[in-house]
Amino acid sequence: MNYIFGPAPVASVAVAGSEDRIPVRRIFCIGRNYAAHAREMGKDPDRDPPFFFLKPADAVVDNDATIPYPPQTENFHFEAELVAVIGRDGKNISEDKSLDHVWGYGVGNDLTRRDLQLKAREQGRPWDLGKSFDRSAPIGPIHPVSAVGHPSKGAIKLTVNGEIKQQADLADLIWSVPEMISILSHSMELKAGDLIMTGTPAGVGPLIEGDTCVVSIEGLGDLTTHIGPKE
Ligand code: MN
Repeated sequence: MNYIFGPAPVASVAVAGSEDRIPVRRIFCIGRNYAAHAREMGKDPDRDPPFFFLKPADAVVDNDATIPYPPQTENFHFEAELVAVIGRDGKNISEDKSLDHVWGYGVGNDLTRRDLQLKAREQGRPWDLGKSFDRSAPIGPIHPVSAVGHPSKGAIKLTVNGEIKQQADLADLIWSVPEMISILSHSMELKAGDLIMTGTPAGVGPLIEGDTCVVSIEGLGDLTTHIGPKE
């Protein structure tokens, strides 16, 4: 059997302090997982069941990359997020077993074409074109659980050109990592290489050509992204 054309290269993210890389299968993202961000998006924070969207695996971008300003937007936003990496397959995972399925954690930026996302939201349409475009998921090196444990508190911060835009604590997550894993795994089987972007705190805002955006999480280092000209 021959493929009609060559398969896509395996999308992957870096591992901290190693030449090894993690192959990415899917990128799950949760919406409105910090109360203050839910409010700034015009919604009440609550404990209604969380909702998720996905980005394609090959949206990942390494630390210190320059990415072009994306097309079809006038309002391109940053979102600082903790990323959890699934390392072991599982379905119907109970909350108390969830963390056994995590390989490690890293720093991510859920890049968003906010104008397209909000227009889709108003029209009751999917968010894909606002959220799941090319290079929409910069993710820093992943730190193994064996080195960093399971961070459930600690500072999460984002700067643009050195100015602080987002500052919060992982303890403020509405839905915790174990809860997210359990909920997702009751909907579909989680597989090694799945990433979960755990939501962003308040303070989201625009990026423009020439900006340098740095996301930092206590114990997990920095993720730097430079914004280049439109392609
Ligand atoms: Mn997000």
